[in-house]
Amino acid sequence: MIHVDDLRFTYPGSDAPTLHGLGFEVHEGEIFGFLGPSGAGKSTTQNILIGLLRGWQGSIQVLDKALASWGRDYYGHIGVSFELPNHYLKLTARENLEYFRALYQHDTASSEEVMALVGLAGELDKPVAAFSKGMKNRLTLARSLLSRPTLWFLDEPTAGLDPVNAVKVRELVKARRAQGVTTLITTHDMLVADDLCDRVAFIVDGTLVECDAPESLKRRYGKREIVVQYGPEDSPNNARFPLDGVGEQTEFLRILREEPLLSVHSQETTLEDVFVQVTGRSLR
Ligand code: ADP
Ligand code: MG
Repeated sequence: MIHVDDLRFTYPGSDAPTLHGLGFEVHEGEIFGFLGPSGAGKSTTQNILIGLLRGWQGSIQVLDKALASWGRDYYGHIGVSFELPNHYLKLTARENLEYFRALYQHDTASSEEVMALVGLAGELDKPVAAFSKGMKNRLTLARSLLSRPTLWFLDEPTAGLDPVNAVKVRELVKARRAQGVTTLITTHDMLVADDLCDRVAFIVDGTLVECDAPESLKRRYGKREIVVQYGPEDSPNNARFPLDGVGEQTEFLRILREEPLLSVHSQETTLEDVFVQVTGRSLR
């Protein structure tokens, strides 16, 4: 769906490049995530891919065509959700959506349809000023679905949302995947990357450092350990053993046989641990 090679970009008037030769592929039907701290270049990359920023170098193929050779019809195939909700607050949700629908040359989904997709079916005729933050966010997603996109770009779709609304957004993105939509999502939220993305690219300082499925990254970089706590409760001992081959660890077996056990835990690596280990940077 997307094929990017050696993508470089410098903002006009800036002395230093923002993107230093990114390369990645997004496959049909997957949710592909850009994970990186603030300022890494995620939004810049998205804005290049949606045709908003020009003057980049490298090669970009989208939907089997060079990005540069797409005309305005490109916007009939993609859906874009920007990081900050930008709605006309005095207008209702329906009026906002109808305004954007009128910009499309081709058939679009109806306002009712997209509002139902984001769980806001009953809120069409409320002024957006009366919407909560989570509702405004979902209205942004609804608008991005008007074009019935095959390729969906989401910039930090859960930023600033409470956990309940963040889960709703994640479920919504998964439901679109089940319908065959390909999604490129930028996030600095570990949960989004881990729960939602089929593959994740780590991006730091305009450089792509790693790219793989979250499970593979954890397997490749993770330390799988067993932590055993034993001895008296007021001054317990902790011992750690690599999970692989733990059955051959004589000390582990001795503790199990001879010591009063307090707890035994297997320690799984999180995607955040892997990110820190691979990039040497924190996500916050
Ligand atoms: P992210 O989305 O990963 O947080 P951005 O792509 O927004 O990062 O920004 C990457 C870098 O580019 C940052 O250093 C930011 O300051 C810079 N940048 C973003 N927008 C502009 C702009 N319009 N002009 C100049 N520099 C910019
Ligand atoms: Mg951003």
